[in-house]
Amino acid sequence: PFSQVAYFSMEFGLSESLPIYSGGLGILAGDCLKTASDLGIPLLGIGLLWQQGYFRQSLDDCGRQIELYPYNDPTQMPVTPVRDAEGEWLRLELPFPGRTVILRAWQAQVGRVTLYLLDSNDPLNAPADRGITAELYGGGPENRLQQEICLGIGGWMLLRRLGIQPDICHLNEGHAALAILARAYSHMQDHGTSFPCALTATRAGNIFTTHTPVSAGFDRFPPELLTRYIAGAPGAFGVDVETILALGRENPEDTHEPFNMAWLAIHGSLIVNGVSRLHGAVSRHLFQSLFPRWPEDEVPVIHVTNGVHMPSWDSAEADALWTNHCGKARWLGDLKDIEADFRQTSDGDLWQLRSTARQQVILFARRRLQKQLAAAHAPDQDCENAKTALDPNTLTIGFARRFTAYKRPNMLLNDPDRLYRLLNNPHYPVQLLIAGKAHPKDDVGKVMIQQWTQFLQQHPDLAGRMVFIADYDMLVAEHLVQGVDLWINTPRRPWEASGTSGMKVLVNGGLNLSELDGWWAEAYEPETGWALGDRQEHDADLKWDQQEAQQLYRLLEEEVVPLFYQQRDANGCPCGWVAKIRESMSRLTPRFSSNRMLQEYVSTLYEPAARLLSARSERAIVEGICQWQHDIRQHWQSLHFGELDVQSDTDTHHFQVHVYLDDLDADAVAVQLFANGDGKQNPEIYEMTRGDALTGAINSYNYTCTVPAHSTVESFTPRIIPHREGCMVPMESNEILWYR
Ligand SMILES: *Cc1c(COP(=O)(O)O)cnc(C)c1O
Repeated sequence: PFSQVAYFSMEFGLSESLPIYSGGLGILAGDCLKTASDLGIPLLGIGLLWQQGYFRQSLDDCGRQIELYPYNDPTQMPVTPVRDAEGEWLRLELPFPGRTVILRAWQAQVGRVTLYLLDSNDPLNAPADRGITAELYGGGPENRLQQEICLGIGGWMLLRRLGIQPDICHLNEGHAALAILARAYSHMQDHGTSFPCALTATRAGNIFTTHTPVSAGFDRFPPELLTRYIAGAPGAFGVDVETILALGRENPEDTHEPFNMAWLAIHGSLIVNGVSRLHGAVSRHLFQSLFPRWPEDEVPVIHVTNGVHMPSWDSAEADALWTNHCGKARWLGDLKDIEADFRQTSDGDLWQLRSTARQQVILFARRRLQKQLAAAHAPDQDCENAKTALDPNTLTIGFARRFTAYKRPNMLLNDPDRLYRLLNNPHYPVQLLIAGKAHPKDDVGKVMIQQWTQFLQQHPDLAGRMVFIADYDMLVAEHLVQGVDLWINTPRRPWEASGTSGMKVLVNGGLNLSELDGWWAEAYEPETGWALGDRQEHDADLKWDQQEAQQLYRLLEEEVVPLFYQQRDANGCPCGWVAKIRESMSRLTPRFSSNRMLQEYVSTLYEPAARLLSARSERAIVEGICQWQHDIRQHWQSLHFGELDVQSDTDTHHFQVHVYLDDLDADAVAVQLFANGDGKQNPEIYEMTRGDALTGAINSYNYTCTVPAHSTVESFTPRIIPHREGCMVPMESNEILWYR
């Protein structure tokens, strides 16, 4: 039912040979394209070709992060110029204040899926404009706005130039939300309608995926800045400043309120989702203020939990084992037999897989360590020792992530002596592989990187037990997730919206020990891994951090290490550990694959959105919706309830209430009976039936409803909400009137 999805994203992580990503958001976008290709889903990507991408990291001999910005030469990357019908290089002319910025267009082929990339590094542009697409997450607010104009508006213009008419625009994070305006503007031009009607017609095809669990994570721009760009480039935006600014505000009347890209994304789409079950709930809380007086549960944000593209993250050996049990086409179908089929694997095969994988990641870590030491002019002896660092039979723990406060990448360093004892246990040793970058402006993150080097320098005897691998990227990630026995993740709940790195170890038989946050909060079961935290939020409470660190040490000392080394069978295979691997692999791998994720996007977002969109293809219908929205706003203040009457017998309550609708068409609203399930059970909602008009009153009716009596009469209250077939409430009309 949908014909083409245009997937807009600021970053795409497809391979280290196309370094136009920074982290999880980009990898998700990349995995999404690969999966669309696998499954034959009509999807294309729209992004920017960053001249420098994200920085590359090296470490000096004190462990300080050094940031390098190599130039991404398009001729050296797997991209080709997009050509127009005449075979000429396609160039877009994007109106900017006082000038035109030229955007070059490139394409990369991801199997059957095309990724279009724009950049401003054209010699015809002024030098400053050539730098607009230089650095991912690099510049200040103005540069960021320029980049987002290129992505959202430039991206939409490119599709128009190519004659591509996507029915679905999927906005991966708010960065791309300006595409909403460009799409509506095109509709205005094509159909000669007003902007509100154009937005109403097109927003049905827009989907917004939000990724941040904190309001500070939303892009916000000062209104003056945005005004300068909108007023200065009417050819790009098409509508007046006030109309646009209002879409990015919670309170359109407040002229000081910054322009919030997430608000724009909500006001310009019909379906919004978070990226894990917990993040869905967190997002409903964050977006609550846009739906005043609505219960938080009914804030219209659903969730699709992220997944990863298993064929990209599995090792050759893991692939072979999976193929033996589940066939070559296992990630291409409905996934339903995978769990049962994979469970047939023998202990021996699983343990063999792990042993080979561990060996390989150790070889990789040694190579990288030798290079790093040589580059840092380390003593010859250290370089020599690096060749034999790490041990192939030792429990190998990995953790790699962005070094930033909320991820708590130094939790293991909370008690350095205890960590030392853990690593250096003479019978049951542990080794650590660590990687991660800190954002160039995140000084706290940089200090945390340095602390690892300092710990190592204080304990030179750990040189063979611990390696910090510099320049965490997809290649490093691939080696780590394939090789480590245990993946640790320690974010502060609920700040990890989903997290995907831990999903990448599943297919390879690595186990997870993670905070009950993001995906792990819904994935964890005692049979499949270990959980940190208590399912509560504790904010940035240092005392609590400390307590969790103790919990982490205790889990490692008392559960993880013994399970790995003890209960070995005659062949040296740790049966308890392998049993956990089998459960983790068979239960969780299909569930957290991007195949499951994308199929969920198709059935719960793309298909419904396409249906909503096609139901709005007629102008009269769209105008009807706009009129309805207008009428609701106009009359809402005058609606009111009259008398409420309840009669109960043993099984049922019979409710009857008088409703005065001012001049509003009675079909424009629904009257419901609502019972808040005292926090625990889900709220109950019943539609009330409109009965006779009240005699002696204008446009007022008797509404009735009979409900089962398992809740008390007092727990029910009637309410009026906007209603119209084919419209989303409260997304498109957020009024609500409660009886009490
Ligand atoms: C998977 C991946 C991420 C995302 O991982 P998180 O779980 O969000 O930490 C970041 N960077 C790279 C290089 C990755 O491969």
